[in-house]
Parts: sequence; C-alpha cells; structure tokens
Amino acid sequence: MNAAGTGLTVEAASHSYGSVPVLRDVSLSVPLGTIHSLLGPSGSGKTTLLRLIAGLETLTAGRILISGQELAAPGRHVPPERRPMGFVFQDYALFPHLSVRENVLFGMPKMKTAPRRERLDHLLRSVGMLEFAHAMPHTLSGGQQQRVALARALAREPVVMLLDEPFSGLDARLRSEIRQLTLKVLRSERVATLLVTHDPQEALLASDVISVISNGCIEQTGTPHELYFCPKTLHVAEVFGQANRFEGTVKSGRIATPWGPVEAPACDEGQRMTVLFRPESLLLNPQPSNGSTPGRVRSTCLRGETCDIEVTLPSGETVVAAAPSYAGWSPDMTAHVSVVRQSAILLPT
Ligand code: ADP
Repeated sequence: MNAAGTGLTVEAASHSYGSVPVLRDVSLSVPLGTIHSLLGPSGSGKTTLLRLIAGLETLTAGRILISGQELAAPGRHVPPERRPMGFVFQDYALFPHLSVRENVLFGMPKMKTAPRRERLDHLLRSVGMLEFAHAMPHTLSGGQQQRVALARALAREPVVMLLDEPFSGLDARLRSEIRQLTLKVLRSERVATLLVTHDPQEALLASDVISVISNGCIEQTGTPHELYFCPKTLHVAEVFGQANRFEGTVKSGRIATPWGPVEAPACDEGQRMTVLFRPESLLLNPQPSNGSTPGRVRSTCLRGETCDIEVTLPSGETVVAAAPSYAGWSPDMTAHVSVVRQSAILLPT
C-alpha cells in the first residue's frame, strides 16, 4: 500500500506520565475506509493513545504519521488544529446556541458558498438529519445529537477519525442503529477510523481489525475472526467470552480431552497445552451420541437467544454450554455433552 493509502500509522509509541509508563511500544496501522478498534479495560491506556494521536500529549518515543506525513516524533509536534482529524466522544459536545446546520458549518473549511452548501446538505443527508437542519441541539434526542456530532466531525474532511466510546451513552437499541449508521458513513467517506471501546461485542461487530490493549501494551492485533477463533493468549481468548478450559500434554500430535483427542499438528511432542472450547462448541443432547459424555445439569442462565447451561461431567469438572433457549434444560436433568472438535482453541500452557 502506498503512503497516502495508509491513513493512520502509529510506530512503536511509548508514553509516561512523570515516571509512570502507561504505553509501551504501541504500533498500529489503519488504512483509509477501514475501522480499527482499540479494545481494553479502563486504565489500559486507550485515551492516552488517542490524546497522543490528536496532539494533546507530546510523544517522547516512536512516531505518528497520517497519509505518510510525520506528525509526531521525539522533537516534532504538529499542533492539534493542523492534524487532519475529527473526533466524536460519548458526550456530543454540540454548541448549544448554534442550530444543527451552524454546528456543522462551524467545522467546515473556508470554501465558496455553493460547494459549502452542497457539502453541508450531503453530510446532513448522510447522517439522516437534513430535515432537522434548523433545529437547536436541546430539541434533539441523544441519537440525533450524536449524528450531528458525526456530521460536524466530518465537515473538516478529516483523513482520520477518532471515536472515544461514542455509543456508550445510548440505550441498547439506539446504540446498534447509530453504530451501524456511523460506521457506514465513515467507510463511505473513506476515513481511517480508530474506535476506542471496552465492549468486546461492539469491537467484534464494528471492526475490520481489533487491537486488544492491556497495561499499555497491545497484546494482539487481528481481524475479529482471528481474535475470536485464534487468540494468542488466554487473556485475549477470555476477553471475547468465557471458554471451557482443559490442560494436557501433546502425545503423537494429539491432546486428550473429555471427548477424546484433538489434533495438535503444529505442537511439539510432550508440550503442555491448554485446550479451550467456547460454550457454543458444546452440544447438549438428552440421548447419548457417538463420543458424547454424560453429565448432570447444575444450573441454567437465560441470556436471550441462548441459555448458559452448567453441566457437571463424571470427572467432577463443570463445563458451560450455550444452548438454544427453547431447549428447556433445567437443573438435575441428564445432558449428554459432545463437542465440535475442530473448534478447539489451542494455547501453550
Ligand atoms: P483508558 O482510556 O484505557 O481508561 P488512560 O489512557 O485514561 O486509560 O489511562 C492510562 C493510565 O494512565 C491510567 O493508570 C491513568 O490513571 C493514567 N493517567 C491518565 N491520564 C493521566 C494524567 N494526565 N496524569 C497522570 N496519569 C494519568
């Protein structure tokens, strides 16, 4: 990819507040027209990285580039207003005394009246707010205000968009609707988007690429599919949901589990490994089937579409299966547990 297509690049950025290091050797690259999520718990350094990219903190180690142009490096600091980027935060921060159209026009660079008007209409239309152009912010719902905030952030024609937990103040149904709209608009405007979130479901739904960050370090970067199905550490695996865990030793290229051996072709003979099965990989049946293990249902927990069923196996281990909610499992029933063996996740212990 050429430099102009790279959007945002962060190379080996580190940062300390005083003598306390909060970011260590962080690298990521966000191509134009894609969404990259930064997923981590509170205190992991997400906001600090956004502030460094925005130019609100001074970088002391590493480099930050947009479209191949260096904006931050030791001894170099392009001020925030000269960086081609937009921001959307959880609190929409619209100017309360300006109408919707005035809020969006505020961010727009100087240009002739006709193209300015055209761009304004285009932005308001793309976020579905054209008919509210003359409304004042306090008359709008939270979701509408968030859409105006997006249009205003796009008015500068940014190369990079920084989204800091922008949907977390919205209720569940609205959150999903606004998220879909926001990401669609950002993709169609060919913006390189960095989305900060602590919600793994949101990261899986929204992203082309996810970086899991903990204690100021990026633990793994990959597509949602890679992170969910091929995590490199137990921590990354557990970030995306619970997993049933078994430990074993590689013998003849296989590891034993309660359901028979799973293939471990890339592992060394004698290596200790952890085998994970996600709850949806465990199948429950009232009747025994080939390779199933009998167990007793200990508890059930309705999640909505699925129900978490805890089952105690003859070995005394308790596993969790995600069964369809209509299946009607209840405590003390006998459940025969089988697994989708090829869904096993293997990690060095
Ligand atoms: P996150 O956004 O993931 O919650 P932050 O980047 O806000 O994480 O914080 C990372 C760490 O840096 C935390 O331990 C936090 O207390 C500390 N920190 C954040 N801002 C400052 C600051 N201005 N001065 C000193 N420490 C800070």
